[in-house]
Amino acid sequence: MVIVMAPTATDADIDTVIAHVAEHGGEAFVSRGVMRTIIGVVGTEQVLETLDAGQLSGVAETMRITAPYKLVSAQNHARRTTVRVGGVPIGPDTFTLIAGPCAVETREQTLAAARMAKRAGATLLRGGAFKPRTSPYAFQGLGVEGLRILAEVRDIVGLPVVTEVMEAGDVEVVAHYADMLQIGTRNMQNFGLLQAVGQIGKPVMLKRGLSATYEEWLMAAEYIAQRGNLDIVLCERGIRSFETAIRNMLDVSAVPMMQRLSHLPVIVDPSHAAGRRDLVVPLARAGMAVGADGVMVDVHPHPESALCDGAQALVASSLDELAEAVATIPALLGRTSAAHLAG
Ligand code: PEP
Ligand code: MN
Repeated sequence: MVIVMAPTATDADIDTVIAHVAEHGGEAFVSRGVMRTIIGVVGTEQVLETLDAGQLSGVAETMRITAPYKLVSAQNHARRTTVRVGGVPIGPDTFTLIAGPCAVETREQTLAAARMAKRAGATLLRGGAFKPRTSPYAFQGLGVEGLRILAEVRDIVGLPVVTEVMEAGDVEVVAHYADMLQIGTRNMQNFGLLQAVGQIGKPVMLKRGLSATYEEWLMAAEYIAQRGNLDIVLCERGIRSFETAIRNMLDVSAVPMMQRLSHLPVIVDPSHAAGRRDLVVPLARAGMAVGADGVMVDVHPHPESALCDGAQALVASSLDELAEAVATIPALLGRTSAAHLAG
């Protein structure tokens, strides 16, 4: 069971609820968020049945949720959630394209990539300043300087920014510059980092771990939600398989399954799944057709000299094909393109 306290609830109200739970033999887990306090209750079926916290002062809502991921579960959600990133919606009624360079390398490269992104119909700009690289000898990103470039390019091009944060200690500085914080595949179960982004007032994109099950992915999202941040977008980016011709296997089943299990928006990243440019648009189309709430792709003005993931970056000549897919496929499923909403 989850007990959501009203924003006006006092400390005494919260203490009364905790005491009430204890009296009935349950255990209360209290998360004091910026906006609201949420109390998770664990106990036997019998205990939960006799609890009647709804009558107590300061309680806004009580929810019986049987899934282990209480706050992100689709249970008790009549409609799926729309997350707004700098005003841009990601949710069931729209389709949102996110595009940009894998890594921020220079101001010029980022600006050129952002203009490419816009041409393809993107309404959000991606770009990594802190890069999680497999090799310690590979380009690690520009760090805070990269964040500054992203913020400047956002102001020039008018696209809110999504960028990765890799360490709990960097969450504040990344949130200062970015409109949405990305948790990469390698950090999906970095629980301290998840809790840190759960406490920041910015939306979070949670990528699926390299070999995470749906439940593990949802439990990771629950770590963020449990700290009071429910603005979470799930991103399927391909999982490990035995095939070596592609980088990862885009799991298209994840989209409708996660939309069934959770109320959170679900997007796909065909670039990090394929690892090769020629498959990105076909896989983006697959994501759209299976009902993804958005797609995120890498673009680069000069992929041959890119410092990171050049092989999968879309080039200028493939943008029209992507734009055409964005303009037609989501509409067949009754979605409005976020590009049209943003004007
Ligand atoms: C990225 O989007 O830049 C990235 C590193 O992706 P992933 O965590 O999915 O590998
Ligand atoms: Mn990359």
